Amino acid sequence: MQRRTIRPLVAMLAFIPLFAAAHPPVQARTYVRRPRLVVVIVIDQFRYDYLVRFRPQFSAGGFNLLLSGASFSDCRYDYATTTTGPGHATLFTGTYSNIHGITENEWYDHTSHHTAYCVADPDTRLVGGTEGPGASPRNLLVDTLGDELRLASNFQSKVIAISLKDRAAVLPGGHTANAAYWWDSKTGHFVTSTYYMPSLPAWVAAFNQSQPARAYCGQRWQALAETPDAGGQLLGEFHPQPGEPCPDARFLAWLDSTPYMNQIELKFATEAIRQEHLGQGRATDLLAISLSVNDHIGHAFGPYSARVVDTTIRTDHDLAEFFRAVDSTVGLDHCWIALSADHGVAPNPAFIKLHHLGIGNFPTDQMRERIEQALRQAFGDDQWVEASDEFYIYLNRSALEKHHLDEAKAESVAAAAAASSPGVYAAFTRIQFLTSSLPASPLARQAANSFNPKRSGDVFLVRDPYAVPAEDDLRTTHGSPWNYDSQVPLVFWGDAFKPGVYASACQPVDLAATLAAALGLTQPAGSQGRPLTEAMK
Ligand SMILES: [Zn+2]
Repeated sequence: MQRRTIRPLVAMLAFIPLFAAAHPPVQARTYVRRPRLVVVIVIDQFRYDYLVRFRPQFSAGGFNLLLSGASFSDCRYDYATTTTGPGHATLFTGTYSNIHGITENEWYDHTSHHTAYCVADPDTRLVGGTEGPGASPRNLLVDTLGDELRLASNFQSKVIAISLKDRAAVLPGGHTANAAYWWDSKTGHFVTSTYYMPSLPAWVAAFNQSQPARAYCGQRWQALAETPDAGGQLLGEFHPQPGEPCPDARFLAWLDSTPYMNQIELKFATEAIRQEHLGQGRATDLLAISLSVNDHIGHAFGPYSARVVDTTIRTDHDLAEFFRAVDSTVGLDHCWIALSADHGVAPNPAFIKLHHLGIGNFPTDQMRERIEQALRQAFGDDQWVEASDEFYIYLNRSALEKHHLDEAKAESVAAAAAASSPGVYAAFTRIQFLTSSLPASPLARQAANSFNPKRSGDVFLVRDPYAVPAEDDLRTTHGSPWNYDSQVPLVFWGDAFKPGVYASACQPVDLAATLAAALGLTQPAGSQGRPLTEAMK
């Protein structure tokens, strides 16, 4: 009996390695799906909880269509600078600012002593709008999902990116996009830059010629009947002066604070699909749409306001109409759609104080003065701080030289002063980043993912939770590592994805990684995202 049980086991043990060597386990799919069109929708300033709070008011074909796919309920940015330029770069490159180089919307350049805008490119001009410098992805240090799609198809795939903001079109498009279009609010036209083309295609010129804003002249912003606690309320109104033509610059500025801008943007995206025959060629095309007006309205009123609620419900309805248009041109069965956001947002300081969540408005000037004072006290009279923004203190390097002062010493005095200021949670120095001597904490890791040695400042600031650098108590902003700013939706819809709600932790860097894996592409050069295989068929 013993012989009969032992001998097969011995035989098995002897054969396993040989068997494994001859037949390595094959789990990867040999067949890669090729949708005709991939649509990536980014909503500028959209918290994950909006999908839950307002779901009862959503229509069947908008967010609910996407939520019938694979939805991740715990998707959080693992960096500390949750703003528009960095967020869009992150979603499409699959990596953070330390690698993709878009550290902020604007950063201070120590060499030129000027502020550098993330998509500024003096070698380009605007096309189709006001005279002026254009924009390009030259500051983006790695490539994007769209770039990999273009490379893999020998440039047969078309990549088009659309937004109201230049940075939210240029960065998603990547280096090889066929086009990035954004809104010129001075003229009410969609524009591009000479980086992409010398003049607008006929269909874009015709779209502009039709004056898309004109349809809203005389309209008021009244809450939808289904908007909770605000149904039918007047939320916005334009007061024209006697004889004032419409749409003029004043009207366009007003329109930019209403949810109607999403309708104009999605109408333009629909026209792009039709006129550029997206999803109708032999290769997979990519359309990146960033809906910007949600951010404008969120800044002005905060995430718990009736205007944000109404805008979110209208975004759902507008997306439903857009998806119907995609269905009638490309066929939704042949499309994949992904949804995410570049960042969330904090409540406004008035709301924060009312509900005792934190200090509310962050005293920026007080902190900067405290840092100056500490540096004067330690090293003598001078102008020690050369520049500062919401994330960094930039020290005056010529003053350091003049006083024969070690940078590390000055940084640590400045950081200590910052850290002891009201509303500051932590301050990290440039030397700490460069020498990997940060504390071992999740927060320090997030800060390190935001830090790029060539573009970042000398002291990095993390404000307390609910300490918001807003312009006043009723406006608000984002840009912190805290979850109200960092947690966003991540949804994949289409025949490659397994429907379900996934509670496993994931990050926005996984968007590009997942789509690249599902399309059988090389991952974008810097991608550190994880293909979310649990949701892939
Ligand atoms: Zn914003």
